[in-house]
Order: sequence, then structure tokens, then C-alpha cells
Amino acid sequence: MVAKGEMVYAWTTDADLQQKAECGGAVTALLKYALESKMVDAVLAVQKGMDIYDAQPVLITDPKDLDKTAGSLHCGTLLLPKLIKKYLDGAQDMKLALTVKGCDMMAMYELAKRKQINLDNVIMIGVNCGGSVSPTVARTMIREKFETDPDDVVKEEIDKGQFIIQTKDGQHKGISIDELEEEGYGRRSNCRRCLLKVPRQADIAAGNWGVIGDKAGKATFLEVTSQKGADLLTKAAAAGVIATEPANPKGIEIRGKIEGAMLKLGNKWRAKDFEALGEGDARLKKILEETSRCIKCYSCIEACPICYCVDCSTKNPALVKPGQVPPGFMFHLIRFSHIADSCINCGQCEELCAAEIPNSLFMHAQQVELEKLFGHKPGVDMSLPVLALVEERTERRRLANTGDDQIFQNVFNPLPE
Ligand code: FAD
Ligand code: SF4
Ligand code: SF4
Ligand code: SF4
Ligand code: SF4
Repeated sequence: MVAKGEMVYAWTTDADLQQKAECGGAVTALLKYALESKMVDAVLAVQKGMDIYDAQPVLITDPKDLDKTAGSLHCGTLLLPKLIKKYLDGAQDMKLALTVKGCDMMAMYELAKRKQINLDNVIMIGVNCGGSVSPTVARTMIREKFETDPDDVVKEEIDKGQFIIQTKDGQHKGISIDELEEEGYGRRSNCRRCLLKVPRQADIAAGNWGVIGDKAGKATFLEVTSQKGADLLTKAAAAGVIATEPANPKGIEIRGKIEGAMLKLGNKWRAKDFEALGEGDARLKKILEETSRCIKCYSCIEACPICYCVDCSTKNPALVKPGQVPPGFMFHLIRFSHIADSCINCGQCEELCAAEIPNSLFMHAQQVELEKLFGHKPGVDMSLPVLALVEERTERRRLANTGDDQIFQNVFNPLPE
């Protein structure tokens, strides 16, 4: 019997799966058990496509297909929740288990509070995440810094602060991530600023941090973060598909220290990136300049987990002139005003921008300011976004009566009738 809040070392009892898995194979074993036992109808996971740079989402209904999803793809920058909304009807009528990085998990909450995903039907197995590397950056980095043909790399891993590659001939080469990032390679810029390293709002948070002693490299560290997670792990262990032992107290301490160091690093990157953006007019000027090369491809809207509207205001001819490229600044202002309070800094709008505009940086910088003002932290629970607290009719009445356009005032002070 495993309880919510417990921390254990866990590993699959299937020797073949253990070979393929990243650490102890606990994540794949749990997903497989959930499917085999019919706790869920399907599993959404990530598998290697053409090569290690090609992380593909895959929906699995036959448990034996799950083994091919084992292993971590650090160039897997994809986000799964919007696929659930778009192609699986938000899991309204199916039970689903999926693996989530911190950003996936936050996107699940943001879509759920907008009623686009039914969390009651979902089991989330979270993986700790130190960051992911854009596939194009990874290829350049491997060619230029590792002096290796990227197509010769068969495996990559991030261990003890190094990005390590293994080539076809079995050679290993590692370079410190700090060194890579100083030279403009390494993790995506949003990942450097990310402060969600252990996804505790999922049902289980899995990782390799804190696995020490004879289990190092052979077990997965699991923190059981919900009752649903406790039930799944208890049943999987009782069925004999997963073995567990209490996590070593020293390992728990080490894990806590690594997480703390990662958060410190994330805050350092936030300060650096936001400072470089400037303030006030200087920041606005920078955003105007960068967004002026937009080709209105709509990738940012398509990919953003907060953008879910059937009728998007950016397609309203009264607001954004049709056929005009680059679009007027209103196109970007609409997104800033609709998303900034809820941006989870997942990086999709930057990663997939055809014009390489640092959209995620701009939105994240605004989100952090709004969080300071209103205290709303997106992606970690079902609390409603700041905009939902504004009651439109009351606001219009106040605007008409007072001429005051400070629409958020009623969040702090009750309005005069
Ligand atoms: P496995 O049984 O091998 O299962 C791995 C699962 O991860 C599969 O379900 C697979 O679909 C999924 N997956 C693989 N790549 C991705 C991806 N890009 N996005 C979403 N899902 C994916 N742990 C730490 O303790 N510290 C870290 O810094 C850390 N960084 C990570 C960074 C990334 C990008 C990823 C994907 C994982 C990271 N992990 C980290 C988690 C760790 O690598 C293992 O996933 C975890 O310990 C589970 O191991 P396992 O053997 O039980 O997983
Ligand atoms: Fe990981 Fe955070 Fe980057 Fe998502 S945004 S891939 S959780 S570091
Ligand atoms: Fe992610 Fe960009 Fe949307 Fe923010 S605005 S949630 S970074 S896609
Ligand atoms: Fe909805 Fe605004 Fe996003 Fe358009 S830009 S999809 S209107 S949130
Ligand atoms: Fe413009 Fe980039 Fe968005 Fe495309 S993804 S509409 S180019 S900002």
C-alpha cells in the first residue's frame, strides 16, 4: 500500500523494458499497467521517430506497443495537451493516461479550467524536467561543439550537468550545459527560465534525481502526489509489474538540493532575460521591432495551449486588417491581452514561430509582471485567470460613469454602484 506523499524507488520487473527505459522503467510500467488493467482506454506518450531529434506523440491502445515509448528524448520539445483538446475531444468520453513534463502539466490545468479537457478522466505521470533542447539547436551544437556528425548520434542524455552524446561506434562525449549555454547552445530559452522542475500537481512525479547507492541508474524516483497516483502505484505493485522500496533519506536530501539549485538557476536566467528586454518604452520598442517581421502564419495561436477560441479575435477584420503582412501591432496586442495572465512559458509560440520572434520571452515577461500584481500563478491548480474576475457589464458601467479604464480595479476594491 503506497500513500499520497510517499517517496519511493521503483523499477519495472520486466527485464526487456528495463533495458529500453531511461532509469528504472517505472513510468512505462505504470502506463502499461493502467492500460492492461483497463483503468484507462488509451495512453498518450512520446516515442522516437526518424532519429533522436524527432520526438513524436503516439496514442497507444495495445499495451505491448508501450515499450517503444520508453526512454527520455531531450530534444522532445512538443506539448501534448493541445492534442488532447484538438483530436481526443478533451478526454470528455475516454479515460487517458499520459506522461507530462512540467509545461505539459501546466497546460493540462489551463485547458481544464477553460473546460477544454476533463481532468477527471486523466492520469498524469509527471517527469522531472531540467529542460529540453530544440532539435535544430541540438544538431548545430553537436556539429560545432561536439565536432560530431549529428546523424551519427544514437543516444543523448543529460547527467550531472552535462549534455552527453553516444555515437554509432559506442563513443561517449559530454560537455557541461553551463559551457554550452554560455555560447548560445543548450536548453531552450523558456526552459532556462522554467521553475517547474518537479511536476507535483500531476498524479506521480518521476525522475532520476535522488536515486543513489546500488539503485543508481536502475530505479526511478517516484513522489506520489495524488490519491489517483497512490492507487495506480499500489495496484501495479500488487500485480507484480513494478517493485518498490522506500527512497533513501540521503537521496531525498540530494534531490531537494538539486531542485533548489535548478530553481536558483532558473531565477538567474529570468533576471538576465528580462533585464535584457529593458523596461517601459524600451521594452515596447523592442517588442514592436521584433514582431514587425511577423508573417501572420498563426503558428503561435495554433500551438498555444491557452488559445482555444473558435472565433479568434485576430481574425476579426475590425481589429486586424485581412491580407496585411506583416499584420499591425494589434495582432500581437490581442494575444498579449488574452494570454499574458495565463502564459505557462511552454515555449511553443517561440519554437514554432516561422519568423523566429521570441514570443515566449515577451509573453512570459508580461506574465511575471501580472503575477506580481495579482498573485495569480498559472498552471498549478484550477484557480481562474485574472481576466475571468472582471465582470464585463459592471466594467462597462464603471467606464461610462467614471471614464476610468483601470479594468482590474475591482479585483482589489469593490466597485461603487
Ligand atoms: P521510462 O519508462 O523510460 O519512460 C519515459 C517516459 O517519458 C515515456 O512515457 C516517454 O513517452 C516519455 N517521454 C520521453 N521524452 C519525452 C518528452 N520530451 N516529453 C514528454 N514525455 C517524454 N529527471 C530528473 O530527475 N532530472 C532531470 O533534470 C530530468 N530532465 C528531463 C528532461 C526531459 C526533456 C525529459 C523527457 C525527462 C527528464 N527527466 C529528468 C526524467 C527522466 O529522464 C525519466 O523520464 C524519469 O526518471 C522516468 O524514468 P523511467 O525509466 O521510469 O521512464
Ligand atoms: Fe521542461 Fe520547463 Fe522546458 Fe517544459 S518548459 S520542457 S517543463 S524545462
Ligand atoms: Fe506557451 Fe507561448 Fe502560449 Fe505562453 S504564449 S503558453 S509560451 S505558447
Ligand atoms: Fe482566443 Fe485570443 Fe487566442 Fe485568439 S488570440 S485564440 S481570441 S485567446
Ligand atoms: Fe507571427 Fe510568429 Fe505568430 Fe507566425 S508564429 S503569426 S510569424 S508571431
